[in-house]
Amino acid sequence: MTEKDPLALIQEKERRIKSLEGQLEEAKESYYQAIRELHISGKSLREIAGLLNLSHQRVHQIVEGQNKGWRPWLRPAKPELRCSFCGLLAEEVKKLVQGPNIFGCDACIHAYREALLAGSKDYRLLDRSSRLRCSFCGKLPNYKRRVVAGKEHQVCEKCIELSLKYMKEEAPATVPEQSKQKTTTVTLWLRVERNSKFVRGKAKAREEIERLVLSHHGMKKLDGWEYELTFFYDDDEHLDKQINDMLVECTHLADLRNCFIESDVRENGTDRSW
Ligand SMILES: [Zn+2]
Ligand SMILES: [Zn+2]
Repeated sequence: MTEKDPLALIQEKERRIKSLEGQLEEAKESYYQAIRELHISGKSLREIAGLLNLSHQRVHQIVEGQNKGWRPWLRPAKPELRCSFCGLLAEEVKKLVQGPNIFGCDACIHAYREALLAGSKDYRLLDRSSRLRCSFCGKLPNYKRRVVAGKEHQVCEKCIELSLKYMKEEAPATVPEQSKQKTTTVTLWLRVERNSKFVRGKAKAREEIERLVLSHHGMKKLDGWEYELTFFYDDDEHLDKQINDMLVECTHLADLRNCFIESDVRENGTDRSW
């Protein structure tokens, strides 16, 4: 029996450590990601700390760790900044958000979001083998991170969500505008069903609909399959359009998971329905 080369033995042990380190990194990242998702879905840092028995500071580190580099910009703050997508100046757009690496305005981010949810001829969804990275966070597409490519930039679904979240935090800038608008609440009854009994992903479809669509309308979960949603609108036509767009987005998300929806929307306190 030949003795194994001691150097080869050491190298083998070294490889083992590297591989375990890689697995540890992955496990940590998925743990952090789950915590961030909890935060984005509406739980405060303090609530999360209580639930997981962690210090508030630790949760803050985990959540802000990924959000590093993101901040909302109020229009007057730095007028010379530009949206990296359309090139408009901060003063020419409603909201401008600074992400890691680039800036995005509300109109451009919404266009990417629309393309992600409903498809659009000027954008394409990258497939998972693509080597193009999200221009904000630099990550590649994978089965949990869809990335939409436009003319010059790519944006992943997580960065779309984060930028919208940061734009919302600019609430004071949009209040005067919204106060001119009317507001109403509606009750949405939404059933998500599978196209066939072999399809999985019904729960996932509902979760995505809640996170990517309903949460943008002040979603409150009621009993069963019902949600209360809030809409700001200029006139009835505007309200009709928003509700129709929302239902189209829900249909599309369900369809991506091989599911379909049945829905009923009623305005609270009137007999209007969609
Ligand atoms: Zn723009
Ligand atoms: Zn990204």
